[in-house]
Amino acid sequence: MPIYNVKLMRKDIVAHSTMAIHLAKPKGFEFKAGQFGDITLLDPPETDEEGNIRGFSLAHAPYEADLMMATRLRDTAFKRVLRALPIGAEVKLDAPYGSFTLHNNERTPAVFLTGGIGITPVRSIIAQATHDKTAHRITLLYANKTPADAAFMADLESYAKANSNFTFVPVMDEAPGGWRGERGLINASMLARHVSDLKAPIYYLCGPAAMVAAMRKLLDEAGVDEDNTRTEEFSGY
Ligand SMILES: Cc1cc2nc3c(=O)[nH]c(=O)nc-3n(C[C@H](O)[C@H](O)[C@H](O)COP(=O)(O)OP(=O)(O)OC[C@H]3O[C@@H](n4cnc5c(N)ncnc54)[C@H](O)[C@@H]3O)c2cc1C
Repeated sequence: MPIYNVKLMRKDIVAHSTMAIHLAKPKGFEFKAGQFGDITLLDPPETDEEGNIRGFSLAHAPYEADLMMATRLRDTAFKRVLRALPIGAEVKLDAPYGSFTLHNNERTPAVFLTGGIGITPVRSIIAQATHDKTAHRITLLYANKTPADAAFMADLESYAKANSNFTFVPVMDEAPGGWRGERGLINASMLARHVSDLKAPIYYLCGPAAMVAAMRKLLDEAGVDEDNTRTEEFSGY
């Protein structure tokens, strides 16, 4: 894949300990919603045994003007350097990679089961489907500990308003009083409440390995054929 040096345009805190970085899109750069890229820190002031490269999903959709990625800010050398990176600095981008992309057949529904930082490629896919006005029926169950931990809530709510084929189901483990979404962890009865025919959709599971494993177990127990699931595991969490 082509390798580019790209400029950091903006950094935003988008949830508790979660930072989005906006990178200038290289001329002619094309990708599919859901794909990821490898970011290399150039000449970083510190490093550790994990090195200077991390894979991040492209959280902006292809139609959006710049490239955006988001990450949980843990106390690792890579994240410390990324957090302190000045606007205008360059990083190396090796992209696009991956096949965690929306299926073509618009008659087959899509169900996304994710949580926490696993939302990144899902945001891109749903943004692009909404922009393209595809006919896919899409349901997203998005689990977080609290609303403060959940990135891109306003974006997802706006896609649900704009796209009548998209159902957004936020799930909070610890919800404040007055919370109108689902409470607890994603489980079989919650899934059944939002997916009328469990055998019909293609399921997309995404996030840290433990999250993907838990969702895969849930689908196995619900009798969903493994052929109808697609996964993107964020190794390293
Ligand atoms: C296809 C793909 C897409 C990805 N997309 C994203 C994305 O969109 N956003 C994103 O944030 N990440 C994404 N990742 C994961 C990302 O590449 C990093 O692995 C991850 O962000 C962790 O990096 P780190 O610097 O925090 O930890 P590392 O320094 O890589 O951690 C190394 C090891 O130390 C452990 N460790 C380090 N710090 C802690 C801590 N505080 N608590 C517990 N254990 C710790 C980790 O478990 C790990 O085993 C993706 C990975 C893949 C493969």
